[in-house]
Amino acid sequence: MTATTPAIEGWFTTGPEPALIGSACTTCSTVFFPRTAGFCRNPACNGDEFTDTELSRRGRVWSYTDAQYQPPAPYIAPTDPYVPFALAAVEVPEGIVILGQVADGYTVDDFQVGDEMELVVETLYTDDTGDRTIWRWRPVPVEPVETKEA
Ligand SMILES: [Zn+2]
Repeated sequence: MTATTPAIEGWFTTGPEPALIGSACTTCSTVFFPRTAGFCRNPACNGDEFTDTELSRRGRVWSYTDAQYQPPAPYIAPTDPYVPFALAAVEVPEGIVILGQVADGYTVDDFQVGDEMELVVETLYTDDTGDRTIWRWRPVPVEPVETKEA
């Protein structure tokens, strides 16, 4: 029997509208990702309690790169031989920049800095427990521009 489970536990929700899980400080409301515990990292705050919060599913490309060479362990190559992929650093409205692989089928030619990206969850690799998933960033299709008929 196989199942679909996150490759890393507790970092994101699954389902039709997946979201990353961060921590919100109960004192200053600052959001952190990945989740944190202990003392708030906001130097102006002495809070030490956090609640889980789902981050915005959309953000804007802040930077990106093309990974032409296989990253070192613990990176697990989903394919052999290694296939280059794109990485995007996306800034979500909470003010956090989150690095993620770009969704299957997209390359750095499909988006640029400032473009809107949406969080999706895709299969990273498959092992004997089934499919293991990870979050990725997928370019949001640009809304068609309204044209006025003369
Ligand atoms: Zn705080």
